[in-house]
Amino acid sequence: MKPSDLTALNETAQRISIVSSSVPLESCPECGTSEVRLNRVSRFAGGDDAYYVACTICEPRQFPDSREDAVRDWNQRQIIDLREVLNASR
Ligand SMILES: [Zn+2]
Repeated sequence: MKPSDLTALNETAQRISIVSSSVPLESCPECGTSEVRLNRVSRFAGGDDAYYVACTICEPRQFPDSREDAVRDWNQRQIIDLREVLNASR
């Protein structure tokens, strides 16, 4: 990931909204809460809308993806860890 990507990532914070998921979301793998939300990032990194799933307690850690992939990966516990992506780029 390039520094410009990190800037884009930070700028997405203002463009996040909660949307409904057509597929039930599994509880959080870290804290176990069922208070889980599907979030939409409009124009992620200057491109299309992207989505990630996060619970209301833990820090978001899923790298934004397509709506279907974000929900599927969350439910399958196969999410790409956003924190690892950011740490690897430092
Ligand atoms: Zn959690």
